[in-house]
Amino acid sequence: MSATPEFTSTSPALRRVARGDLCSGCGACTIAADGKVEMQETAQGFLRPRVIAPLTASEDEAIGDVCPGLGQTVNDDGASFDPMWGPLESVAIGHSTHSDLRFAGASGGSLSAICKFLLDSGRVDLVLSVSASPTDPVANQAKRCINVRDVTDAAGSRYAPSAPLDALRRLLREDTKIRIALVGKPCDIAAFQQLKRTDAALGDRVPITLSFFCAGVPSLVAADRVTSSLGFTWDELETFRYRGNGWPGRATATNAAGDSASMTYMESWGGILSGEVQERCKICADGTGMAADIAFGDAWESDENGYPIFEEKDGESLIVVRTGAGQEVLDEATSAGEIVHTSTSPRAIDPIQPGQRNKRRALQVRLLGRRLAGKPVPKYRGLHLGTMTRQADLRFLAKNMLGAFRRAVFPRERPTRQR
Ligand SMILES: Cc1cc2nc3c(=O)[nH]c(=O)nc-3n(C[C@H](O)[C@H](O)[C@H](O)COP(=O)(O)OP(=O)(O)OC[C@H]3O[C@@H](n4cnc5c(N)ncnc54)[C@H](O)[C@@H]3O)c2cc1C
Ligand code: SF4
Ligand code: SF4
Repeated sequence: MSATPEFTSTSPALRRVARGDLCSGCGACTIAADGKVEMQETAQGFLRPRVIAPLTASEDEAIGDVCPGLGQTVNDDGASFDPMWGPLESVAIGHSTHSDLRFAGASGGSLSAICKFLLDSGRVDLVLSVSASPTDPVANQAKRCINVRDVTDAAGSRYAPSAPLDALRRLLREDTKIRIALVGKPCDIAAFQQLKRTDAALGDRVPITLSFFCAGVPSLVAADRVTSSLGFTWDELETFRYRGNGWPGRATATNAAGDSASMTYMESWGGILSGEVQERCKICADGTGMAADIAFGDAWESDENGYPIFEEKDGESLIVVRTGAGQEVLDEATSAGEIVHTSTSPRAIDPIQPGQRNKRRALQVRLLGRRLAGKPVPKYRGLHLGTMTRQADLRFLAKNMLGAFRRAVFPRERPTRQR
């Protein structure tokens, strides 16, 4: 079994992605080559593109332009650009004012509070996010939210593959007028912004984008390990929540009889899921949604050594506003009483997000390690990787470079889903 999921592809751009195992599963290539590429689940439990009809040279070029596996450009011109955390209008810590949304949300339900405001105020007709698949409760399906019930149903983080841009493609095809708020991983939103550069009409259809801090997407094989550790076989599983219903909330599996079992966030994410993230995520230069209008993270409190504390409590989200449009939406949602928050400084993010900070510092040498092993890497522009490298010590850098080199030369065999 190959460690790299197989692509059936006549596209040089997709072949390069496959050679480096660089796919994040965003689905942008299904828009760039509409009708010729589709997303499918691989045996290893990731979402990957499959070419279903021959591509033209310009379609292949379009994939090359938008694919976050091949590159990402961040606009670093703004006066408030922070080399570590990217474009910033403001930073705050807050939560939804609705206790059920705050409880259901992954952290403070702030992202969902903004979705609710966007729908209630008529700024958009629909929010495109994700929820559990009814046929495979650990997997995701696109969720088209048109009211607060849908938004609450979609709340909570789902540490599993999602391809929001494939879902967006379907929606745009079905309805030519609807205005959409797009929720996606940082790589999804980066790819969407690239698509917008060649199709300005997309900006009218999707006037606002929301993202979240992202440490990586684990395979569904890892999700199956969580549920089997909880004592459920895949065919008796009725529902599965990765987290939320509290902060951080427990990973909870339930069967048809209503019996449930759960484990802590440290046990699920820390013990199982985080070790099984896709390869692209290990060399991700933007895990904080730099291309979105607003990005949300966990506003973890830290212990005396600066490490996040994961004790259950009322949720608080980190709210990172990146554009003027995002600021306007947050201000209006605040005036409408949907969300409460307290401003903080960009430097307050540093101790809250040590994982994201360390990854940014390690990135340039991880890319070097892969290049030395002859593997392609994404082209990053405006991500200030040199500045990040200079913040790290030599030992840390050497360890990360060697780790990336070793992983590239000896890719691990990824297990397949047992169904
Ligand atoms: C794969 C993954 C990795 C993450 N890594 C980090 C991290 O390193 N640091 C950190 O601070 N936070 C991380 N988070 C984000 C964090 O868990 C919360 O999403 C964030 O705190 C916002 O919480 P909230 O309560 O405001 O969002 P909520 O109100 O719970 O809203 C979350 C929204 O995200 C959507 N969503 C959930 N999962 C997915 C998915 N897989 N793909 C697309 N949309 C999805 C939901 O449908 C919902 O609309 C990660 C989330 C995911 C899914
Ligand atoms: S990263 Fe996105 S655009 Fe690139 S190959 Fe994968 S699904 Fe397609
Ligand atoms: S870590 Fe980066 S590449 Fe991986 S899913 Fe998250 S944003 Fe995408």
